[in-house]
Amino acid sequence: MPGNLSKPRPSVGQAAGLPGQVGNLPHDGAWQGLGQRVLEGHRLSAAEALAILRAPDEDLLDLLAAAYRVRSHWFGNRVHLNFLINAKSGACGEDCGYCSQSRVSRAGIPRYPMVDADEIFAGARTAAQRGAGTYCIVVSGRHPAGSELERLTEVVRRIKRAFPLKICASLGLLTPEQAAQLKDCGVDRVNHNLNTSERCYPRICSTHTYQDRLATLRAVRGAGLEICSGGIVGMGEEDADVVDLVLRLAELRVEALPVNFLIPIPGTPLEGVHGLNPRYCLKVLAMVRLVNPRAEVRIAGGRELHLGSLQPLGLYAANSIFVGDYLTTKGQPPEDDYRMIADLGFEAVAEGA
Ligand code: SF4
Repeated sequence: MPGNLSKPRPSVGQAAGLPGQVGNLPHDGAWQGLGQRVLEGHRLSAAEALAILRAPDEDLLDLLAAAYRVRSHWFGNRVHLNFLINAKSGACGEDCGYCSQSRVSRAGIPRYPMVDADEIFAGARTAAQRGAGTYCIVVSGRHPAGSELERLTEVVRRIKRAFPLKICASLGLLTPEQAAQLKDCGVDRVNHNLNTSERCYPRICSTHTYQDRLATLRAVRGAGLEICSGGIVGMGEEDADVVDLVLRLAELRVEALPVNFLIPIPGTPLEGVHGLNPRYCLKVLAMVRLVNPRAEVRIAGGRELHLGSLQPLGLYAANSIFVGDYLTTKGQPPEDDYRMIADLGFEAVAEGA
């Protein structure tokens, strides 16, 4: 089981083996220069990314300012809203340790087969009414059954005719042929998270591999679809694993990058894993932005739980959130999200298809 994250973190200098300095970053809070260099084309090294995660808390506002410099360059003050439907819940044969829907989970969640097309269509209407630009259709399981894929492709065609929504499908592992079917019906983007580093992956799942996940991402890209892929922070991994994941996602040039902070759901193998604090979560978001300057960085599951009262600050790095509930856990009321965005002086936009 993953270890405890609450151990003391090494200092910035220790992180890169350079006393008082990381690469050519002065250890005096001057992170904004790094943001400017990213805008000029600099790609962060692993040591620089690690240094962000291990920066002292007093550097936090400077780090967020650096991330905001990059975020505002590419996205202004716009916040992209996503709305999610869990179109099939539970009964998955995989054993992902963080997931309440896995075969090893005893979590008290709703379990149901794939809902009918009208229900998925109704979800799209709600997404549009809430000002979402992207409608995310999620189906639990290792991979989609033929009948599930058929239902999905038909309803996506209907949705595309009715609403100006971008469609993101999250269906598990995909073959190139299945990815091509999704492209053909009008799906814009596929979500398939790498979740953590390759090194850490066997600790969170034994029924499929990191390479299986990468193969799906290759299939998605090969079909001409956008990639939504991110991770879950707080599963007991090391800082270096978070960095590995985020650098890997940069190599894959993912269009959207959801950052989840583990919700240790009772009944899952990771139920006892705690160790995140809001300042660390914000450093993760700043690092993700600086490593992936042009990606739609989304604060996903665990936003309310782990960022707490610092939640609005996350939007200085990220430019996207879910509005509404997550897969099996509740989000805050949409009105609270709209108010948070307005209070920041930001603008919720429906940048759909
Ligand atoms: S494959 Fe998906 S639904 Fe199944 S256990 Fe893993 S994360 Fe959960």
